[in-house]
Amino acid sequence: MRILRFQTHTFAAPKTQASMAGTITFTMIKPEAVAAGNSGAILNKMEGAGFRIVALKKIQLSAQRAGKFYEVHAERPFYGELVEYMSSGPIFAAVLEKENAMSDFRALIGATDPTEAADGTIRKEFAESKAKNAVHGSDSDENAALEASFFFSDLERF
Ligand code: UDP
Ligand code: MG
Repeated sequence: MRILRFQTHTFAAPKTQASMAGTITFTMIKPEAVAAGNSGAILNKMEGAGFRIVALKKIQLSAQRAGKFYEVHAERPFYGELVEYMSSGPIFAAVLEKENAMSDFRALIGATDPTEAADGTIRKEFAESKAKNAVHGSDSDENAALEASFFFSDLERF
């Protein structure tokens, strides 16, 4: 006999495709792109390239939260400016789903420096500079899962 229990909380992974290894990535539309009114066009590019929006929210990071998110870059010379910039205005944070999501998304956004980004990439079209480069994209499946969980609970993913 199956016993049903009422659960007030769970730490189990969501029972959707989004929890399968390699199928999700995490992105942010960065402050200057949001301020410039490019959020809709950028989301349209993501969906147009076959990414499904699993979770999405508009949020402004405190300097402390931005510092935590970019902790891996703490020793790099641009860290202070990066934290200041990423907490300077609202961003969109999103979890995206697709086969090979992480690597396909890195290809869609293009190189960190927009002068090196390929034609047709999001950064080529929307980035202002190497620092203000319109979008974030996770660099490994492991980081995608960690970064998605930094912003979204299981209950916020569909
Ligand atoms: N960044 C910067 N100067 C640099 C390299 C990076 O301001 O010389 C910023 C930029 O906004 C970049 C972020 O720091 O997107 C994270 O750097 P990373 O090397 O991880 O680049 P990404 O993975 O975003 O392409
Ligand atoms: Mg990176």
